[in-house]
Amino acid sequence: MTVPTSRVYLLRIIDGGGDDIAARLDLLLDRSGLGSIAAANELVAIKLHFGESAETGHVKPRFVRRVVSWLARQGSVPFLTDTNTLYRGTRSDSVHHLRTAAEHGFTYSAVGAPVVIADGLRGTQEVRVPLEGGVLKEAAIGVELVKADSILVLTHFKGHELSGFGGAIKNLGMGGASRAGKLEQHSTTKPYVRASCIACGICATWCPADAIAVGEKAEIDEAKCIGCGECIAVCPEKAVGIRWNENTDAFQRKMVEYSKAVASLKPGRVGYVNFITDVHPLCDCYGTAKVPIVPDIGVVASVDPIAIDQASYDLVNAAPTTAESSLSDGYRSGEDKFRDLHPEVDPTVQLRHGEEIGLGTRNYELIEIAESARSSVG
Ligand code: SF4
Ligand code: SF4
Repeated sequence: MTVPTSRVYLLRIIDGGGDDIAARLDLLLDRSGLGSIAAANELVAIKLHFGESAETGHVKPRFVRRVVSWLARQGSVPFLTDTNTLYRGTRSDSVHHLRTAAEHGFTYSAVGAPVVIADGLRGTQEVRVPLEGGVLKEAAIGVELVKADSILVLTHFKGHELSGFGGAIKNLGMGGASRAGKLEQHSTTKPYVRASCIACGICATWCPADAIAVGEKAEIDEAKCIGCGECIAVCPEKAVGIRWNENTDAFQRKMVEYSKAVASLKPGRVGYVNFITDVHPLCDCYGTAKVPIVPDIGVVASVDPIAIDQASYDLVNAAPTTAESSLSDGYRSGEDKFRDLHPEVDPTVQLRHGEEIGLGTRNYELIEIAESARSSVG
């Protein structure tokens, strides 16, 4: 039986960091055939993570500007997008989210495309997309991602405390979900109210299910709660907590299925670009600067989210480590860096489950753009 293989195109950073790959991104996008995902005058959602305030690893605006220009030259009409966060931070509603994006340089004048938050002012604008073949029966996806004609997923590839690594799968699956969808992936239970509640009643006003009663403090009636997560976002005291209790394997499976929900809406119309630069140990939701675990490697592109994440994972694991990385003293060259960073997480779950549910293949042919050379891997 022939094993399906997907192509992953690699634009390697030539001199280990001083090379600004922005000028060569067009070459990667041309060679990888991603122009086929969008037709003239179509609205292309560039799915990004703008980074929590003070975070530094996100895909840089100068790269995004090149991608926007390239898409515009194909005749399509790009916009930048992400969904609001589940937790209360600097991107938990569209106003704060747009402000954070602008502070990180994602302005129309800098990038050449507007930002449209995909799940509305407070993360509730969603479409329920049916799913089969996995754990979930449906996924709650941000409405503007559903309405876009096609999607180009631009991802900062890095470590992640819950999924081992965060790549294209996570950017689309978690990042494409509405707040209720994120809560469903992270937790098996409903939110709870902490002792720090000041009984202001704001959460009860916003709760769409009339599930909150406020006495000396707010109480959530779990039987009524529909898990929308709105109380988490509106509480001014950050007193509504999330039980981050889904185990990492189940979390990864749900995340992959959410990716499939989005991708299945647009067959042949979703492309993926991973920036394997500033490979930090933790996700971009932590608002701090971090030390990369490997020198910058480059940028990869593919139409297969499983293949591109498998290739990115392999490239990081094969790379030398940086002197000040947070890898353990016991780490040995060639071992899995993500298992060393997060020993309790098996990051291959997302890759294996993605393959099982038909989202893509772990077998890939790596095609290096810089040298115009080809080598088969995987
Ligand atoms: S999660 Fe939604 S439904 Fe449940 S208590 Fe909070 S606001 Fe109400
Ligand atoms: S909004 Fe927050 S502080 Fe106010 S009642 Fe609800 S949980 Fe308590």
